Amino acid sequence: MAWDFETDSDFQKKLDWMDNFVREEIEPLDLVFRGPADPFDPARKGPAHAMAPLKKIVQNEGLWACHLGPELGGKGYGQVKLGLMNEILGRSRFAPTVFGCQAPDTGNAEILARFGTPEQKKRYLEPLLAGEIASCYSMTEPHAGADPAEFTCRAELVGDEWVINGEKWYASHADFSRFLLVVVVTDTSVPIHKGASILIVDRDAPGLELVRNVSSTIMEEIGEGVHGYLRFTNCRVPKENILGNPGQGFEVAQSRLGGGRIHHAMRTVGQLKRALDMMCERALSRRTKGELLSQKQLTQEKIADSYIQITQFRLHVLYAAWLIDKNQAYTREVRREIAAVKSCMPTVLRDVVYRALHLHGSLGLSNETPLLALWQVVPEMGIVDGPTEVHKFGVAKEVLRDRTGTDGLFPSYHLPELIAAAERKLASSIELDVGNL
Ligand SMILES: Cc1cc2nc3c(=O)[nH]c(=O)nc-3n(C[C@H](O)[C@H](O)[C@H](O)COP(=O)(O)OP(=O)(O)OC[C@H]3O[C@@H](n4cnc5c(N)ncnc54)[C@H](O)[C@@H]3O)c2cc1C
Repeated sequence: MAWDFETDSDFQKKLDWMDNFVREEIEPLDLVFRGPADPFDPARKGPAHAMAPLKKIVQNEGLWACHLGPELGGKGYGQVKLGLMNEILGRSRFAPTVFGCQAPDTGNAEILARFGTPEQKKRYLEPLLAGEIASCYSMTEPHAGADPAEFTCRAELVGDEWVINGEKWYASHADFSRFLLVVVVTDTSVPIHKGASILIVDRDAPGLELVRNVSSTIMEEIGEGVHGYLRFTNCRVPKENILGNPGQGFEVAQSRLGGGRIHHAMRTVGQLKRALDMMCERALSRRTKGELLSQKQLTQEKIADSYIQITQFRLHVLYAAWLIDKNQAYTREVRREIAAVKSCMPTVLRDVVYRALHLHGSLGLSNETPLLALWQVVPEMGIVDGPTEVHKFGVAKEVLRDRTGTDGLFPSYHLPELIAAAERKLASSIELDVGNL
C-alpha cells in the first residue's frame, strides 16, 4: 500500500523557510516594482538591485534553480518536490526570478543543457543559469499558433549561415533577451514535425527587427508590453547555432514543456489559495443585514466550492508530478494527466477568482487589491502554451485509445442482455430462491 500524501519533515522545513521568505522578503518587491517587465528584465536597475541580495540568500540556502539536474548544479528534486516549491513561488511575481526558475528561461536552459554543444552551453547556458541574462522562446507566428503545420517562418542554409525570413508573434521577453530560441521551418518537403528546427539567434543579429512590443493588459499603450512581434529579413546566424539536428525542432521543443507545465499549474494553485484567503478574510469581516457575510449560506457555498475545486486541482497536479517521478519519463499516461491539468486550469482559476472578486464588491473591481490583476490572467491561462481545446483533444485521444465501440444493435451495458446472461449463470441459485418463496 504505497499511497502517501505526506511531505517528509526535512523537506517541509525547506518549504516553511521558503514560505516565510517569499512573504516577508519578496512580496514587497511585487508592491513596489509593478511594471510587466520588472522581474525579468536584467537591465532594470531598481528591481535588479533589490533582487541581488535575495538571490544570494536563496543560493546559500541551496534553493537556487532547483529544477536543474545535479549535473548542472541543481538538487535533482523530483517533480512532486518542485511542484510544492512552485506552489509557494506562485504567490509572487518576483519569487520565480529570485529562485532562478522563471519561464521561459527554465525551459530554455533545460533544452540547451540537453541538446546544446559545449560552445553553446558556455556562451548561452552558463550566463542564463547564473541569472545574468534573459532569454526568449519564439514559436508562435502572427497567422498561426496552435497548429504548427501552418508555420511559415523559414531558414535556409546558405554557405556557413542560416538565413531566416518570416515573422514571429508574442515572443515573451524578446525585447530584453540576450538570445532567442526560434522555431523555424528548415525542410518543407516533410511534415512540420520532421521539418522544423530550433535556431539560437542573438538579440542583436542583423535582420532581426522588433516590429513592436505587445501587451496582454489594457493598462498599457499600444507598443508597450513584454511580448515581441518580430520580423526576420535575411537574418543571418552561424551554421553551428542550430540546437540539436536539422528537423529535430519539435522533439527538442517537446522536451521542455512537461515539468514546466507542472510548475506553472502549481504556481496557479498558489494564486488560487491566495484568492481563497482573501475571500475568507472578507467574508469574516464584512457585515450585512446584521451578520457577517460568512454567515450567509450563499457565501458559504462560494467558499466551499472554491476550497473543493482548489483541492481537487492541487491533488490532480501532484498526481501528474508523482507519475513523472515514478516513471522517470513522459509516458502517454503522464502526458494525458499533464494535458488534463492544463485543460482545467483556466476554469478553476476563473471560478475561484470570480467568486473572490464578486464577494469584495466594488473593492474587488478596483485596482486596490490583487484580485483584478488575477482576473486578467484567467483568459491567458486558456491560450498560453496552447489553447484548452488542443489539450482536451489530447486527453480525449488518450482516454479513447484503448477502448472500442460495439457492432451490436445495443451497447454492451444494455440491461436486458446482461440480465439474461446473469440469469443463465445463476440458474441454480435462482431455482432455490424461487423454491423458498
Ligand atoms: C501571455 C502569453 C504569453 C505567450 N508567450 C509566448 C512565447 O513566449 N513564445 C511563443 O512562441 N508564444 C507565446 N504565446 C503564444 C501562445 O503560445 C499562442 O497564443 C497559443 O499557442 C495559441 O496560438 P494563437 O494565439 O495563434 O491562437 P490560435 O491558434 O489562432 O487559436 C485561437 C482559438 O482557436 C481555437 N482553436 C485553435 N485550434 C483548435 C483546435 N485544434 N480545435 C478546436 N479549436 C481550436 C481555440 O478556441 C483557440 O483559442 C504566448 C501567449 C500568451 C497569451
